[in-house]
Amino acid sequence: MWHILGAGSLGGLWATRLARSGVPVQLLLRDAERLTAYRRAGGLTLVEQRRAQRYPLPAQTIDDGEPIQRLLLACKAYDAEAAAARIAPRLAQGAEVILLQNGLGSQDAVAKRLPEVRCILASSTEGAFREADFRVVFAGHGHTWLGDPLDLSPPGWLEELQRSGITHDWSLDILGRLWRKLALNCAINPLTVLYDCRNGGLSDHPAEIATLCAELCELLQTCGQPTAAENLHDDVLRIIQATAANYSSMHQDVAQGRRTEIAYLLGYACAAARRHQRVLPHLDSLHQRLLAHLDRRGLPSH
Ligand code: NAP
Repeated sequence: MWHILGAGSLGGLWATRLARSGVPVQLLLRDAERLTAYRRAGGLTLVEQRRAQRYPLPAQTIDDGEPIQRLLLACKAYDAEAAAARIAPRLAQGAEVILLQNGLGSQDAVAKRLPEVRCILASSTEGAFREADFRVVFAGHGHTWLGDPLDLSPPGWLEELQRSGITHDWSLDILGRLWRKLALNCAINPLTVLYDCRNGGLSDHPAEIATLCAELCELLQTCGQPTAAENLHDDVLRIIQATAANYSSMHQDVAQGRRTEIAYLLGYACAAARRHQRVLPHLDSLHQRLLAHLDRRGLPSH
């Protein structure tokens, strides 16, 4: 049984695909009000290639008593630690928790809250968004890497993901993958917010991108992640080209007045530099400009 906390975009995408391949799932919603809203909606709807299909998956509140053996934590990074603390009493001996959060920082916070369970980290390039409450659009196929820096042996349930069409690999360097994704995010997303442009608009700022990439590489080396630094600048330029017409996730969050995950992305990078007593002036200035920008829009900095 997969318990899935967070019936949002990624949680919905995992829950519906697991359930339709015959894997038992149980959604965990934040309270009785959300459970009532879910029941009124008649289940979770997944929209794929413009076709909508409703899945009346079983759901309960996060405070229900049933013990949990395998938990997919599919909330935002800033909600992960509090959600883990609330669910902790329900986790059975030897339970596994799969963490889908973007960026870094939330995984450590969750692991500290749940010292008895195995935490498996994930990094995904799949794309989904919520069109309405309990209605998820599968916007972009991608790949998910899973791994556990403390125990390199793969769990037995990866086959269930395969069967559900969740394309994935077990990574022996999941931290490297998460760091690489964080660095790509830091080089692209904040600037798209500050220049209010699509990813392709960053082609007009080559020098700024190059300087940021150099500082990010220095940071990755300092943090013991030299592999994550390899060809970073080339990769950033490639992504800017390949996704030129897209608005970055951070741009979309800010444009729609939603809280961003900045504290787990650029904020985490700047804090790591400070911890290692590295001065990275451009990264720091980018962080300050982004914080000021969010503040002017009444959006939180954490
Ligand atoms: P989302 O659509 O906002 O969904 C988050 C869900 O978590 C919401 O349904 C929310 O409930 C629920 N939640 C939060 N706290 C909870 C609690 N205490 N108890 C129960 N439910 C709780 O977020 P998302 O886009 O799926 O993102 C999840 C993570 O995946 C993020 O770190 C994101 O960066 C990462 N990611 C997302 C994508 C993507 O394409 N969406 C791709 C790669 C990585 P309510 O509905 O009640 O608010």
